[in-house]
Amino acid sequence: MKQFQYVRPATIQAALDVISKPGSKIIAGGTNLVDLMKRGVTAPDKIVDINHLPLKGISEPIGNVMTVSIGALALNSEVAENSRIKELFPLLSMALNAGASPQLRNMATVGGNMMQRTRCGYFYDTTMPCNKRQPGTGCGAMEGVNRMHAIFGASDQCIAVHPSDMCVALAALDATVEVAGKKGKRYIHFADFHRLPGEKPQIDNNLAPDELIVRVIIPTNNFSRNSYYLKIRDRQSYAFALVSVAAALEIDNGIIKNARLAMGGVAHKPWRLFEAEQFLVGKTASEENFAKAAGLAMKGAVGHGGNSFKLKLAPATITEALKHAAGLV
Ligand code: SF4
Repeated sequence: MKQFQYVRPATIQAALDVISKPGSKIIAGGTNLVDLMKRGVTAPDKIVDINHLPLKGISEPIGNVMTVSIGALALNSEVAENSRIKELFPLLSMALNAGASPQLRNMATVGGNMMQRTRCGYFYDTTMPCNKRQPGTGCGAMEGVNRMHAIFGASDQCIAVHPSDMCVALAALDATVEVAGKKGKRYIHFADFHRLPGEKPQIDNNLAPDELIVRVIIPTNNFSRNSYYLKIRDRQSYAFALVSVAAALEIDNGIIKNARLAMGGVAHKPWRLFEAEQFLVGKTASEENFAKAAGLAMKGAVGHGGNSFKLKLAPATITEALKHAAGLV
């Protein structure tokens, strides 16, 4: 591993000063960055440890404030087991507990979970071509082993997926990300935080290199009684999603008043199913309507050989997740 300098800035402003210079990487839990460094995928000159900065904690909705705020340094396990999160957003708790292992969830932070990089095998193997790791070298997965890869929103440069479960739930819950930069704060809608690969697959998200995630803000909602996170994976104990679905419904007398759907394991970002959501509003909460919504959600899906089984698995998972959310199973 290349030698690097370790710095521990005392304030958020000092951290922003350091990361505004090229060659630095932020470290929090380190559950992804350390792997990337050990394998030579990334080789920063400077590691910026932010663990002591005031970016922890989970706030409650108080008075007219109808949001919950989760600090960027809140641990995945802490959020998943928080009693108010379980009560208000069981979907988020389920998604977090579906991710990684208990040991990793005890180290990984919310901000780090958002910033984790793809688990595409060619990205981690520095002897193989990969446009994301080294732009212009080609994509090993396109004609290679692509069982885990994207069926939506891919480009001819990259067909990788974002590996997070937590982010799929946060996209479905319409969260907002607060980020800090040298010019001040700005807010990014969660569905716009991660990006599609396009011509620049090396860029995973819309956070500028000199910005820091401060917190994630989730508006309260009426989905807590009817939500479900279904993750299909090769091993139940610990594996990334082949396909996952975050489903949330607001149901009144059997009729769907509001719906939110997002998928994981199928795109370079959490994939919101807006057309399927709109279709479900005003419909009976039935398996037939859920299957129709799943059909709409699959418009534009493209397989690449090894992952073509997802073209059938994805709509089946959407239907099943909606049945669970509606209490039909
Ligand atoms: Fe690299 Fe993306 Fe191709 Fe994987 S899918 S080899 S990450 S360019």
